[in-house]
Amino acid sequence: MPIPVDRSTTWPYEDGEPGPFSYSRFSSPTVAEAERALGELDGGEALLFASGAAATTSLALAFLSPSRTVALAEGAYYGTGVLFEELSRWGVRCVEFDQTGAPPDGVDLVWVEAPSNPFLTMPDLPAMAAHPAPVVCDSTAATPVHLRPLEHGCDFVLHSATKFLAGHDDALVGAVVCRKPEDAARLRELRTRTGPVAAPDVAWLLLRGLATLEVRVARQTETARSIAERLRGHPAVATVRYPGFGGLLSFDVEDADTARSVETGTTLIANKTSLGGVTSRIEARFRWEGDRVPPGLLRLSLGLEDPDLLWADLERALGGP
Ligand SMILES: *Cc1c(COP(=O)(O)O)cnc(C)c1O
Repeated sequence: MPIPVDRSTTWPYEDGEPGPFSYSRFSSPTVAEAERALGELDGGEALLFASGAAATTSLALAFLSPSRTVALAEGAYYGTGVLFEELSRWGVRCVEFDQTGAPPDGVDLVWVEAPSNPFLTMPDLPAMAAHPAPVVCDSTAATPVHLRPLEHGCDFVLHSATKFLAGHDDALVGAVVCRKPEDAARLRELRTRTGPVAAPDVAWLLLRGLATLEVRVARQTETARSIAERLRGHPAVATVRYPGFGGLLSFDVEDADTARSVETGTTLIANKTSLGGVTSRIEARFRWEGDRVPPGLLRLSLGLEDPDLLWADLERALGGP
């Protein structure tokens, strides 16, 4: 592996002055190394946070203030909408918009998701770049293997690195990659003052995940393509949402009861939440998101298992031919 984990919280001053590392709330060697690696993948300056949600909170606190408005993509990660609702007590406003078109005028921050989780729509990135407000692209599901949002004019990339980037369901970690050094400096200042930095062990697990990111995502994409196609041909499946790349898709069965029997009927595919791990999982999103999603919507994240075995498992749960 690249480097050992340095769990120190303090390092000696050099000639009476703080060196590159002094106190681990500011930064630490393992975190800095993972930031360097991720920054290279996305083409910007990366900062790690304790979770994707901590990264979202930090971006909001650093770049919004009372009476400022964020335009959030409709159908984006449920937790991001809930987080902005929480921040509404502090005067931050949130409006939703259809990310396949232009963002509304007069907003102070644009927040899109590529592709959105669990609706799998893609943002119109040229329309975002043409808007005067800074643009955040949550690229958790695309990963830098499939999309480098900074090259499309976005100002920030956000990752729940808990998902594909760390990739093994054993590290909770978030990241923001900044296009402008001055934005990265402001975000680092906020992180240092408020404290949501990632831990060194987790940064090490992220480094381990990044080492296999490309092969994992290539395989997950190949499997997801094949499963999406077979789902489209299945009589019990109404709608399949898949943008053509990445390991995440969603599809609809008739109603909530049918969704329950499918998610509890698979054996190889676990019935649990989250995405981007090396093992496949399925869940009805209705339990978390309520009426915001169709009651029969199932979100499926493909792992590295044999695609034919995955399909056999799904087909059996769907009631078979
Ligand atoms: C999971 C997720 C998040 C939140 O990340 P955590 O690491 O769970 O805090 C944000 N955005 C998307 C698209 C996600 O899937």
